Amino acid sequence: MSRESLQAHRVADAWAQYDAVHAGPDGLNAFLSIDREGSLAADAAALDDIAPGPLSGVPVAIKDNLATLTLPTTCGSRVLEGYISPYEATAVRRLRDAGAIVLGKTNMDEFAMGSSTENSAFGPTRNPLDPTRVPGGSSGGSAVAVAAGVVPLALGSETGGSVRQPAAFCGIVGVKPTYGRVSRFGLVAYASSLDHVGVFARNVSDAALGLELIAGHDPYDATSAAQPVPAFHRAAARPTAAQPLAGLVVGRPVEYFTEALDPRIRAHCDQSLERLRALGAEVRDVSLPHTALAIPVYYVLAPAEASSNLSRYDGVRYGTRAAAATLSEMYERTRSGGFGAEVTRRILLGTYVLSAGYYDAYYRRAQAVRTLITRDFDRVFASGVHVLFTPTAPTPAFRIGEVSNPYDMYLSDIYTVTANLAGIPAMSQPIGMVDGMPVGGQCMAARFDEATMFRVAAALEQALGLEVRS
Ligand code: GLN
Repeated sequence: MSRESLQAHRVADAWAQYDAVHAGPDGLNAFLSIDREGSLAADAAALDDIAPGPLSGVPVAIKDNLATLTLPTTCGSRVLEGYISPYEATAVRRLRDAGAIVLGKTNMDEFAMGSSTENSAFGPTRNPLDPTRVPGGSSGGSAVAVAAGVVPLALGSETGGSVRQPAAFCGIVGVKPTYGRVSRFGLVAYASSLDHVGVFARNVSDAALGLELIAGHDPYDATSAAQPVPAFHRAAARPTAAQPLAGLVVGRPVEYFTEALDPRIRAHCDQSLERLRALGAEVRDVSLPHTALAIPVYYVLAPAEASSNLSRYDGVRYGTRAAAATLSEMYERTRSGGFGAEVTRRILLGTYVLSAGYYDAYYRRAQAVRTLITRDFDRVFASGVHVLFTPTAPTPAFRIGEVSNPYDMYLSDIYTVTANLAGIPAMSQPIGMVDGMPVGGQCMAARFDEATMFRVAAALEQALGLEVRS
């Protein structure tokens, strides 16, 4: 199904749509670089392909922190402005091997740090449903490229919700697989133990096929798993039985349905849980007692890893180099001029929690609590629960400039960072609208059980009648 619907997309139409949504003062600013000529030439060549791949001629967009050979890879940062990688990310190469054609690289929060795409050094991306609102982040450009109808499939990355939250804000499907399911080779490191490559699409089955094509072991990433990759697109096929989820147990984690949640979003979640029941699933309240600690733990561990990973941008090895009289002055000027405010804040925070005297109090303690959060999930899945269903974000998309305090921005990740900390697969799908803006529902599953997650999501998508053909 998804193969045919994806293949209906042509590169020339993608460019017509690109031009339409980028014209005028409300232009969406979804892309940081594009390859119009190259993609049109590749499209012409694809028509002559005697053994077309499953994505032959399908236009795709790639987040700007995934390395590509001809287009720059800037991570939305001045420090990497104009940087062209000598190698290509495995996920990008696998999409191209399947026949996909890369239109361009998409806008993002600088080094994937943010939840709104406002932290890009190259200007914010706008939400296509309301250009005064954010698309979410950090993979906002990829989400918008799909939501605005430019491409049917895009790659993003996740460290703490950066695919699922923008998918929810833009009314599309976003998937973060199990840690290790997709190679991180060529994904610019933010917090390596939390980083994942993910996919965006307009329906569950396209997302499932996209993930299937990029998943699987890669000798270039020692953390990529040797597990065989099931046919995810089959798990996501539209069910025909009246009760396709009979025998499945859907957990409703009570800690995700608290006061922080917009009551209108809660109502949509309740309605989805009702549908899941009607589809044959048993819905069971469960407890993940350490949930409230996830944000503080994430915002210790992610900056700690980032402070180490980002030390490589020193003006010597990559991208921009500031003019200076001495070496240390060059480092200082390159880094202070090259990084934006949020990235600087994270580097300082991360350096602090790793420094002698604070390491045990912050970093080590956060690691211990991360284990408790992981065990919460392990216990629930071991008790016979197959998937968990929750809201993706506590609010719909907010206005550009509305959330100015970093701490408030961090709170928008409250329901998403847990799956990154535990390494479990999780996805967001549209479940309704509030004031003209989309609401996302999140489905999470046990490690390497993406197939069950897709099965539940596909049944819910069909029952809600919110399926959007790509
Ligand atoms: N918003 C979170 C952060 O700023 C998550 C970002 C991500 O998943 N890359 O770190």
